[in-house]
Amino acid sequence: MTDFRRSRRASNLALSEIVRISEAARALRAEGRDVLTFGTGEPDFPTPGPVIEAAHQAALNGETTYPPTQGTPALRKAIADSAGFAADPGQVIVSTGAKQVIANAFLATLDPGEEVILPAPYWTSYADILTVCEAELVAPKCGAETGFKLTADALDAAITPKTRWLLLNNPGNPSGALYSKADLEALAEVLRANPHVWVIADEIYEHIAFDPFTSFRNAAPDLAARTLVVNGASKAYAMTGWRLGWGIGPVPLIKAMVAVQGTSTSGASSISQAAALAALTGPQDLLAERCAAFRARRDMVVSALNAIPGIDCPEPGGAFYVFPSCTGLIGKRRPSGELLETDADVCDYILSEVAVALVPGRAFGLPGHFRLSYAYSTDDLTEGLSRIARAVAALT
Ligand code: PLP
Repeated sequence: MTDFRRSRRASNLALSEIVRISEAARALRAEGRDVLTFGTGEPDFPTPGPVIEAAHQAALNGETTYPPTQGTPALRKAIADSAGFAADPGQVIVSTGAKQVIANAFLATLDPGEEVILPAPYWTSYADILTVCEAELVAPKCGAETGFKLTADALDAAITPKTRWLLLNNPGNPSGALYSKADLEALAEVLRANPHVWVIADEIYEHIAFDPFTSFRNAAPDLAARTLVVNGASKAYAMTGWRLGWGIGPVPLIKAMVAVQGTSTSGASSISQAAALAALTGPQDLLAERCAAFRARRDMVVSALNAIPGIDCPEPGGAFYVFPSCTGLIGKRRPSGELLETDADVCDYILSEVAVALVPGRAFGLPGHFRLSYAYSTDDLTEGLSRIARAVAALT
């Protein structure tokens, strides 16, 4: 028998903590428990009806053949026109989700051992992509004291001659941190002194911001020649399953990313591209309406969590996550007597005791916290928060 062997680049890839928790939740559900999952990051709203209609029409009209690898000209134009900064369609790549845009950028630019600065807490998938690239993750810890934001000093300290990219996620997953224009300008100042460092600005939560949002491109237009802005349809238009994202950056980088994309997917689905075109060119009122709905949920979740002794929940400025500290619960004991030693113990306890699934901070590179996604109905959130309060009250 021939033994299976993974490639070196795939050897350290493991099931993500988020997937592990989803599976544990599914197993509990199979036992008949009423599990509430606040672990995943997708809007609970439907994809807008006209977007679905446009996809249907595209299919009926025969838009069912291979699209250009870089994306259809019509969609790339709509993306450039709606970017909020000067861009032309040649600077746009359309991919199978924002995740693939980031994977394309890293695969197209990173050699083994090169470094990427990823302020922690960070979205877990960034780290996984770097593992595949055999690149080094440099993750300065950005805690509640800086609003979970990277400061200019911390950026300066993290840069080495091997740094290729700074990846800035604004508004941030899992913290919900929203960088102000001044925050971004301070980071840009450090980057000006380090011309070898390029920037990926992952702005996928742009339209879920509770204070003014500034794109990195508008905070530092002079750095456009080394900035890749990443965005997509998933979060703004509730289109996670359509798998449609885009990047806007300098042409040589985009060309390299298109070459990489040509080796895997050959480009995003033609039907999804037609749908995204309808989303971007149709009425935009739903963006503000949905943002207001998320804001109301944020307010409710933050105040309910802060009412629980041992949990400290800063107020996030965007996205649909809270990232409270649970260090006040570490050192307490379950009713069964077992000690809670880590954030993962806290999450495991809450899942087994009251069937609420949360993700521990360690998955995002910043232990001592947990992430709760509030992209769920108010009824589920109210019930889940009262269950968490009940579980905490049972600790000794
Ligand atoms: N970037 C961040 C910060 C995210 O949280 C997510 C999804 O959770 C993505 C990118 C991926 O988006 P897409 O569905 O477009 O691949």
